[in-house]
Amino acid sequence: MGNGIQVRDRFADGAQYIGGKLRPGTSGRHHDVVNPATGETVHTYELAGTADVDAAVAAAREAFPGWSGATPAERAEAMHRFAAVLAEQADDFAYVESLQCGKPIKLATEFDVPGTIDNTSFFAGAARHLEGKSAAEYDGDHTSYVRREAIGVIGSIAPWNYPLQMAAWKILPAVAAGNTIVLKPAEITPLTSLMFAQAATEAGIPDGVINIVTGAGKDAGEHLVGHPDVVMTSFTGSTAVGKRVAEIATSTVKRLHLELGGKAPFVVFDDADLEAAVNGAVAGALINTGQDCTAATRAYVQRPLYDAFVQGVAALMETVRLGDPFDPSTDLGPLISHAQRDRVAGFVERARAYATVVTGGEAPGGELAAGAYYRPTLVAGAAQDSEIVQSEIFGPVLVVLPFDTDDEGIRLANDTPYGLAASAWSRDLYRANRATREIKAGCVWINDHIPIISEMPHGGYKASGFGKDMSSYSFEEYTQVKHVMYDNTAVARKDWHRTIFGDR
Ligand code: NAD
Repeated sequence: MGNGIQVRDRFADGAQYIGGKLRPGTSGRHHDVVNPATGETVHTYELAGTADVDAAVAAAREAFPGWSGATPAERAEAMHRFAAVLAEQADDFAYVESLQCGKPIKLATEFDVPGTIDNTSFFAGAARHLEGKSAAEYDGDHTSYVRREAIGVIGSIAPWNYPLQMAAWKILPAVAAGNTIVLKPAEITPLTSLMFAQAATEAGIPDGVINIVTGAGKDAGEHLVGHPDVVMTSFTGSTAVGKRVAEIATSTVKRLHLELGGKAPFVVFDDADLEAAVNGAVAGALINTGQDCTAATRAYVQRPLYDAFVQGVAALMETVRLGDPFDPSTDLGPLISHAQRDRVAGFVERARAYATVVTGGEAPGGELAAGAYYRPTLVAGAAQDSEIVQSEIFGPVLVVLPFDTDDEGIRLANDTPYGLAASAWSRDLYRANRATREIKAGCVWINDHIPIISEMPHGGYKASGFGKDMSSYSFEEYTQVKHVMYDNTAVARKDWHRTIFGDR
């Protein structure tokens, strides 16, 4: 691909992918995809309206009998080809992801794109391993077994922080299990979701199995969630919007899978490897410019290591290179938009009244002034109940607080409404093991923070939502189990009929 002009060519037919074809939206409203590193418009497209959502749902509904009726091997084969097509186009995907998000190209190339290809390969294989519990004659007179079935048309909504990976996490388990899907990406970052669906078509996945509607949350999003032909809503985004989505989905009696916000704690016990913890905190806080629902956001450091940790993190943050996302040496790109940068800066400015900004706390000037950049920021001295400790900031900001006892460290780690991910740092097996048991989060890392793998589930506790992405556990969301029961007696008048007519 190579530059913004070619992106315009690629999506000249529109930014709705319905029934295997690109077409324009019909909302009458246009939206600009902006490169946040420069403020330049990359592409302008017409947003989806409710009629586009209806068309996409109809296409998915039409494709459902064929796709759900295909053998697991047939679905797996198509998905293996899908992974191969993605691998061939890996550079294009990395380029466009970087362009629409301002993501450093090394992150897109080494994390987003290979992660997505691996996820596709994983679900191609997993399509052949849908399991039910064993069949048996539980009451002696019947044989019971469980069928695990696809459920129908899934309506999914994704955020802007990892557009390609979020599209993959929503689409892959759904289609591997035999469902068809309509995905609404965030309107500011639709391009790689569209490319993903196009690659599926190129690989031979039938038209209508994967549809993309690129519209605004309020109209296209809510219409998709409430649509009578959509059987399940799978949403990844903020807790605030998740609550609204839940209301609509519940009122239309849909299955619901919510992957919501996070405020991950990073607990450093006093026997930890300090250098490892410092490196882990900076990488864990700054990944994707901190716009990561599992990013390290609250470091709790046991008193003996506290001062050295603060100094080490501040010094390392100051070495991180902000710059042009397409420069392979750039470590940190801009935030997704100027509005998001200003939102992050607002949290830090308000915190100055009650805490200390140890490093960062400003936007860089010079060549980067036109982009939505913000320096890596460490805030110390905030109270546990302050806004900067409790609220999801979604930017390159780490808050650090001391603690004295192990009990206190774990209590503070659990003291927010969120529970998506956490890490604990210790060389003591018993301390680490206690942290894994007692921290209430969907993932607890020991002596690392961030790595994810296709084989393992990702999902929240508490206000971070429910349901799992990735791994075979995600099939629990995207399939329904049916009890099938055969009579084995072949008698016309069964023993239990006496409860309804006559005696024994
Ligand atoms: P957001 O909630 O603002 O938007 C997410 C999606 O919802 C977008 O596609 C948006 O258009 C749509 N939307 C907005 N209003 C809607 C409505 N009323 N009805 C239906 N859809 C609507 O979130 P965001 O700002 O795009 O992303 C950041 C958030 O996502 C953060 O809170 C982050 O923690 C969360 N996130 C969570 C995970 C996870 O796995 N738990 C992963 C990535 C991001």
